[in-house]
Amino acid sequence: MKNSILSQRDLAVLWHPCTQMHDHETFPLIPIKSGQGVWLEDFEGNRYLDAISSWWVNLFGHTNPIINAALKNQLDNLEHVIFAGFTHEAAIELAEKLVAITPAGLSRCFYADNGSAAVEVSLKMSFHFWQNSGETKKTKFVTLENSYHGETLGALAVGDVTLYKKTYAPLLMDVITVKSPDCYFREEGESWAHYSTRQFTHLENVLEQNSNEICAVIVEPLVQCAGGMRMYDAVYLKLLRAACDKYNVHLIADEIAVGFGRTGTIFACEQAGISPDFLCLSKGLTGGYLPLSVVLMTDDIYAAFYDDYSKMTAFLHSHSYTGNALACRAALATLNIFESQNVLENNRILAMKMTELSQRFLNHPNVAEVRQKGMIVAIELIKNKFTREPYPWQERRGLHVYRYALSKGVLLRPLGNVIYFMPPYVITTDELTFMFDIAWQAITT
Ligand SMILES: *Cc1c(COP(=O)(O)O)cnc(C)c1O
Repeated sequence: MKNSILSQRDLAVLWHPCTQMHDHETFPLIPIKSGQGVWLEDFEGNRYLDAISSWWVNLFGHTNPIINAALKNQLDNLEHVIFAGFTHEAAIELAEKLVAITPAGLSRCFYADNGSAAVEVSLKMSFHFWQNSGETKKTKFVTLENSYHGETLGALAVGDVTLYKKTYAPLLMDVITVKSPDCYFREEGESWAHYSTRQFTHLENVLEQNSNEICAVIVEPLVQCAGGMRMYDAVYLKLLRAACDKYNVHLIADEIAVGFGRTGTIFACEQAGISPDFLCLSKGLTGGYLPLSVVLMTDDIYAAFYDDYSKMTAFLHSHSYTGNALACRAALATLNIFESQNVLENNRILAMKMTELSQRFLNHPNVAEVRQKGMIVAIELIKNKFTREPYPWQERRGLHVYRYALSKGVLLRPLGNVIYFMPPYVITTDELTFMFDIAWQAITT
């Protein structure tokens, strides 16, 4: 009863993200009353296991007691203050911690308030760095096929997911898009490392020929998340780092989705042993509590903007909520959990359980691939396993899975024909078993 009343009020005045609102004439919207740990509860007492961490942001469960306590304390002292000319403890301490835990060489933090904004900052800053350095021909960015970096116009331009990009193409800056290392397309029997290495040639060629007009290459390290949880080998990042150095081009690592332990290490770049010139973070940064993002960069980059005011080299980008105190405090509490609990070790155990539970899917006639990096497992549904003919998008296979799973108490939100699991790190092995069982039923019924 309560669910439908709220739903009606919502649909009278709201417009939801990534949604054809017309769908809600047939599919009910679900008003959530409360959340605890991995569980969400609606107004009629139905519970849903949040298998996708509420769009990949939640790390340690809903209404986490540690983050809640930190926020309540911050709230009584300072909620927000202008971040130009002023500063506060939470912002400083968070920046100190981020510099300490991110790959070597990243020594400075610029805050923004969402992932797309962080990507915009990194693009503008890279371009501006080259302008300040006298390399005025550098105006282009290189991106990988099927990548995703957000929805604002600059971020959309450096992404390559047709569904989101196509309509706006006339508004977007020109970028150089190169073939992806996505291992879904490797030959039968070919290793991930071999395929990813082979695919690097495309990028190398582009840098070799056009580096004088290229500012930066932007990548999602190891997993192209919104592009269907497509994965590649760390060797690609190693080769990319070396080539960016060789051709004098920045490397922007967008770890907005994969940062903070998702792929098994705190940052995905660690698996390649590399440091980018820019690192974009958001999503899990605040444990899924509040919007905050940050771009980390090197001393060299900072130095190119640092001069007498009259030289007009300053980076004048700003957002009203830059360095919001509550958001910084939530992020500090999140990092505190990483420090005080054995998160990565515990995740290794959970990831092994996820490997085990996902094995049965391999033999399903409509499963082309099961792939995993740490706490992300993806199952690629396909119409014909042998020809690899995909389901036509009109069938909306993913939607069927979404609806079935919801009716059984699991929030899955497939990307097209890819079912994936990206649960909060506080999930138990029993809850993992339940989650995979429901997904199995969803694809077999
Ligand atoms: C989600 C995401 C973004 C955009 O972040 P928003 O906060 O949604 O703007 C950018 N890059 C990657 C890799 C993402 O997954």
